[in-house]
Amino acid sequence: MARPHIMVVPYPAQGHVIPLMELSLILVKQGIKITFVNTKENHDRIKSALPSGDGLLSQICLVWISDGLESSEEKKRPGKSSGAVLKVMPEKVEELIECINGSESEKITCVLADQSIGWALDIAEKKGIRRAAFCPASAAQLVLGLSIPKFIHNGIIDKDGTPLEKQVIQLAPTMPSVSTEKLVWVCVGNKTTQRHIFQLMVKNIESMKKTEWLLCNSSHELESAAISMAPEIIPIGPLLSCDQLGHSAGNFWPQDLSCLKWLDQQSPNSVIYVAFGSFTKFSPPQFQELCFALELCNRPFLWVVQPEESKIAYPEGFVERVVERGRVVGWSPQKKILIHPSVACFISHCGWNSILESVSNGIPVLCWPYFADQFLNKSYVCDVWKVGLGLEPNESGMITQGEIQSKIHQIFKDEQLKSRARDFKEKIQIGTGQGGLSNKNLDSFISWIKG
Ligand code: UDP
Repeated sequence: MARPHIMVVPYPAQGHVIPLMELSLILVKQGIKITFVNTKENHDRIKSALPSGDGLLSQICLVWISDGLESSEEKKRPGKSSGAVLKVMPEKVEELIECINGSESEKITCVLADQSIGWALDIAEKKGIRRAAFCPASAAQLVLGLSIPKFIHNGIIDKDGTPLEKQVIQLAPTMPSVSTEKLVWVCVGNKTTQRHIFQLMVKNIESMKKTEWLLCNSSHELESAAISMAPEIIPIGPLLSCDQLGHSAGNFWPQDLSCLKWLDQQSPNSVIYVAFGSFTKFSPPQFQELCFALELCNRPFLWVVQPEESKIAYPEGFVERVVERGRVVGWSPQKKILIHPSVACFISHCGWNSILESVSNGIPVLCWPYFADQFLNKSYVCDVWKVGLGLEPNESGMITQGEIQSKIHQIFKDEQLKSRARDFKEKIQIGTGQGGLSNKNLDSFISWIKG
């Protein structure tokens, strides 16, 4: 019998590619063939960021399609890039399926696509191929999406997704809360972009309903209330294979591994790790405010400043003053950092992957959310799991050096919070360990693929 062959299609962004790559590596180990589809730009970035000798390429068939955008500049324009994801990529994916299934090579038996590109699932349905959706965000975020009709019916939002008044939504007592002005489609871009994102979410949910599996990078231990509200969500996470398989797959930028040696030289539980994912950009005054806070808190820190960001000037003399205890890198091996015993806390933008990587290792989080689902994730950390603190902006929207310094100080001295974070790590490991629910769900999915 021919082996199962899955075409994996991520949304073309860093926080979406990494967890699907993790899942792909697990599936490959089960003898399943994986064809992983990236846009040309992301494909090139992943290949050139892979450390030499990494066996990833021999295990997963990495292929690329055009996203129809010529230049990196064009890709940065929001309307242009989402237009490409919606118009150009579907055509190319369909052509690729036809090409593979029309050739002598192993036929695609399943499409595993990011839930935020429902069109890939629609194409699979049209072609009579089995399909599974994967959500790289929280189950709570999915439940919010599934609740859109109820929100419209109850007059919380209008049919374009615009909130009718400001209020806080909390769907169950142990669910995170989010203000209507921070709903994922409300806190991005201008009104037109917001409407488009909202319509797309509604459409994606329809596509998702037609799949056999709705996998989520989460677990019962993390989100029991959300998962019980929508039993169609099948948690299989957290997918953090770095320690099991030795890979840090799917990075768009080469990881600066030298910071691991630097971490080895620091005392246990002493280092503040600071990273804001792949999207977040600071204004120069906000960047400088963070510099002053890191300088004044007088503790070792490891800070990821992406090359574009590093064009913002550091305060005069900052680099010389912190050189003894501060390390700045362009892109870090984040998963390896968060399991390192020297790391004490993580100042994070609250992307779901970063949150999973932190709480799975018992590292308290200092939350600095910017947009999308990050506010909801912050609520999980601060209100539900109680394993971190939130940074609050002042009346001008600035997170001041005083606020950062004071919250760092609180995290370091709050023994109860640190102990909750450690206990939570143990609890999460139950789900992914042998016999755990995430583990069993993953096994069922693999059996279905092979069946
Ligand atoms: N990451 C990394 N090195 C860095 C910063 C981030 O490897 O210096 C990884 C991080 O481990 C996570 C992903 O990039 O897996 C970022 O995803 P997340 O959902 O946290 O944020 P996004 O980039 O989507 O906003």
